[in-house]
Amino acid sequence: MFEGLNLLVSENAADRIAYARDLWPRHHLAVRQGRKLGEPRAVVWPRSTEEVAQLMRWAGERGVPLVPFGAGSGVCAAVSPTSDAIVVDMKRMARWRRLDTAAPSLDVESGHMGVPLEERLNREGLTLGHFPSSILCSTVGGWVAARSAGQASAYYGKIEDMVTALECVTGKGDVVTLHHRTTGPSLVPLIVGSEGTLAIVTSATLRLHPLPSTRAFAAWSFPTTEVGWEAMREMFQSGLRPAIARLYDPFDAMLAKQGSVKKRGVIPHAPGRGSTVLRTLLRKPRALNALLESRPFAAMVGGAMLVVIFEGPSSATDASAASEIALAMRGRDEGEGPARRWLEHRYSVSYRQSPAVASGLFVDTMEVAAPWSRLGALYENVLRAVGPHVFIMAHFSHGYADGCCIYFSFAGSANDGGPWDEACERTYDRTWKSALDAVVAAGGTIAHHHGVGRSKAPRMDKELGSDGVRAVHALKRAFDPKGILNPGVLVPPVSPFPYPERW
Ligand SMILES: Cc1cc2nc3c(=O)[nH]c(=O)nc-3n(C[C@H](O)[C@H](O)[C@H](O)COP(=O)(O)OP(=O)(O)OC[C@H]3O[C@@H](n4cnc5c(N)ncnc54)[C@H](O)[C@@H]3O)c2cc1C
Repeated sequence: MFEGLNLLVSENAADRIAYARDLWPRHHLAVRQGRKLGEPRAVVWPRSTEEVAQLMRWAGERGVPLVPFGAGSGVCAAVSPTSDAIVVDMKRMARWRRLDTAAPSLDVESGHMGVPLEERLNREGLTLGHFPSSILCSTVGGWVAARSAGQASAYYGKIEDMVTALECVTGKGDVVTLHHRTTGPSLVPLIVGSEGTLAIVTSATLRLHPLPSTRAFAAWSFPTTEVGWEAMREMFQSGLRPAIARLYDPFDAMLAKQGSVKKRGVIPHAPGRGSTVLRTLLRKPRALNALLESRPFAAMVGGAMLVVIFEGPSSATDASAASEIALAMRGRDEGEGPARRWLEHRYSVSYRQSPAVASGLFVDTMEVAAPWSRLGALYENVLRAVGPHVFIMAHFSHGYADGCCIYFSFAGSANDGGPWDEACERTYDRTWKSALDAVVAAGGTIAHHHGVGRSKAPRMDKELGSDGVRAVHALKRAFDPKGILNPGVLVPPVSPFPYPERW
């Protein structure tokens, strides 16, 4: 089948299974049920832009779909190949092409993983300033394609603010280098967030910063989450730009105060008595949520908590300006401890999905955003819509002068009759449907940084309008006339969608 293609290729069953999915939790539920996910026909590992171009031309001539793959850490089914597709793993393209210390910027190949990139930059006295919680298991190309945000996006920006140029191979097999332009249209923003549907990114030139010389840490408790986000809004609108600003609702704050949600988390490591108790509790999420949202509970655990870290020469002054705002808004000073602990555990994110799923539960997250004026409606709408189905908590991160992202975490289990696994899937689908409906009704956006994939593509007409969807299809025709690049992702019509009947 691969004659004429001089590439590292595998049709091995283990490789095909390993590359059949990303980390969309819905896939875990399907696997728990024993369902097979769509395996690609093969996996390839190109080593150069020329090899990517050669592959693209070969696939175009034969109409073979290609699914670009970074590290598969996406959580929206943006990597979900059909049986005729070839997955293109970019991780063998991980060279530094040019470090410009005067700019400063770095042209780096797209398969470079996050942690080694940041560590090497730090040795040069530099930082990219991009710290997604998944930095251990994601690539530059994945960040660009999924429009990623790091934990310090308020200060350094999202990935789209860092990219100054992209080398890409379009669906026609053409190698193009796109630059941010100061006149006329700039094509870089078309590729950022295109989720592998327009081109394969082979390298990105990224803005860099000197490593921060100083940091200032602070944290305050607030009687309610709402007072907390008002303080956060005031800080951003007064011109402050904390690198980190995270507001935890009372339950999330209680876990954060203990050190880290992840170290002492609520999700069991393995099936056992703990998981049986949790499963039983999660059959009645409404009562659990009502208890945890109540004022007496908030008072008992010390309320919501805002953690901030400022970086750079003005960090101490900025922290005291933030403190003035917080204290004027009934904030209680919690000292530096919570922010310092947060930094220490910044990447201890919960990779405990598999044990949770094996325990008969599911966990997932939803990161949505709205202007400050609609943030309250967004928060309330989602809690009301989702509360009957799952246990839910939230933190507010990625603040800006005009709005903020709310990051909901939820845990659920089967809460109606029938076989356990199927009932669990029904709860999961009901949860997401209600949550996304609630976001749209509140005037929020359905994703802030996790991307769209297949899981949210059916909703994109609500975000873009029908003309917007048509415009994306027109772009697709221009960049990828044969339609071979990651078909089915990003915008409707969505075909194939793995779980169409209930979504
Ligand atoms: C525990 C956890 C925490 C997370 N935290 C964050 C976070 O803090 N911030 C955040 O933004 N995201 C986060 N994510 C989501 C995920 O890590 C990001 O979406 C990340 O950008 C995906 O990178 P990846 O290399 O794994 O890409 P993949 O998952 O492999 O691919 C993602 C998309 O990009 C496309 N793609 C990949 N490489 C290329 C390329 N070279 N050219 C063209 N298209 C390409 C794929 O086709 C797919 O559409 C988290 C995920 C997990 C599991």
